Amino acid sequence: MITNIDQLSEYIQLHEDEKRWKEDGENTLPLLISDHIAKLLSYDAIRKQFVPSSKENEDTVGTLDPQEEKENSCMGRLVHRYHNRAAFLVTDRCFAYCRHCFRRRFTGKLAGEASESEIREAASYIRDHREIKEVLLTGGDMFTLSDAHLDRMLGIFKEECPSVIFRLCTRAVATNPARFDDRLLGIIEKNQKGAPFFLMTQFNHPIEITEEAARAVEGFLRLGIPAFNQTVLLKGVNDDEATLIELSEKLLMNRIKPYYLFQGDLVKGTRHLRVPVERGLEIEKNIRAELSGLGMPQYTIDLPEGGGKVILTHDYLIGKEDGSYIFETPEGKIRHYPDV
Ligand SMILES: *Cc1c(COP(=O)(O)O)cnc(C)c1O
Ligand code: SF4
Repeated sequence: MITNIDQLSEYIQLHEDEKRWKEDGENTLPLLISDHIAKLLSYDAIRKQFVPSSKENEDTVGTLDPQEEKENSCMGRLVHRYHNRAAFLVTDRCFAYCRHCFRRRFTGKLAGEASESEIREAASYIRDHREIKEVLLTGGDMFTLSDAHLDRMLGIFKEECPSVIFRLCTRAVATNPARFDDRLLGIIEKNQKGAPFFLMTQFNHPIEITEEAARAVEGFLRLGIPAFNQTVLLKGVNDDEATLIELSEKLLMNRIKPYYLFQGDLVKGTRHLRVPVERGLEIEKNIRAELSGLGMPQYTIDLPEGGGKVILTHDYLIGKEDGSYIFETPEGKIRHYPDV
């Protein structure tokens, strides 16, 4: 486990901006790199995601909470922004902190783990709001909890809200795959009654899908839990077509469905990792031409001020004439579709 810059210099030769990084100011996020990720630091795509830079300190754009989750929280840890789904922030801890983290207002900020009474309070809120069909267990990373605490939490949610779908959101399959041992999978299996679980992973680069990571995901698949992946579009990490195509293909080979490709949020401290939307749209068009529908993630932007997620895509519908819609095909040909 790496927790400070001096330790880091034993793994990699630090760049000037990495040496100058300071854990101070409001946009701070602790330095924490798991042993598993430490072994991958020689890859630039990994280094950019986990090694802090002074560019974080110098960023003055954006805020710490662009989604205004705080305003949309009905209790400290439950974000109820969409009427039919909610996100429960299980803990502020992760096994490794991603420098692009969009929840910097919360992550690694010592809020700690949800107590049993906070879990019970959230569970009864969800039970009482019957319009909530899905709950995201997120954070932070829920799998930083001990086996016993996880078991208790899942038990409470499943007992109170048996017909709600729970998404198990975790980056730990990538950052600490050894966490997913038989004992932990046994706890998940035991709590699988009622509505199904879905596993939501975050892999941003094919390098992250190591053998160990693939095996960790496989553990969920064997329990009948489908896996979906969310990728953040990151400058210098995956902002090129070849990398994203390879990532999608590798995800599919491991039975993980590419779900979202996120445009970077306006989080203070992350500007140096953001890709212009114009380039993102170009990438979206180009990878769509190479990927199947199964392999294609939805390019998505989470709008500022709690506007919510909207899908971004190249527009194939270019006009309407005499009751006919006019399309431009991916090959650049024009087609008319007379509407009924
Ligand atoms: C992203 C998000 C969800 C889930 O959105 P989907 O589009 O269904 O994946 C739910 N709640 C919050 C607060 C979110 O940010
Ligand atoms: S794992 Fe998720 S919550 Fe934790 S630092 Fe990375 S993006 Fe943020």
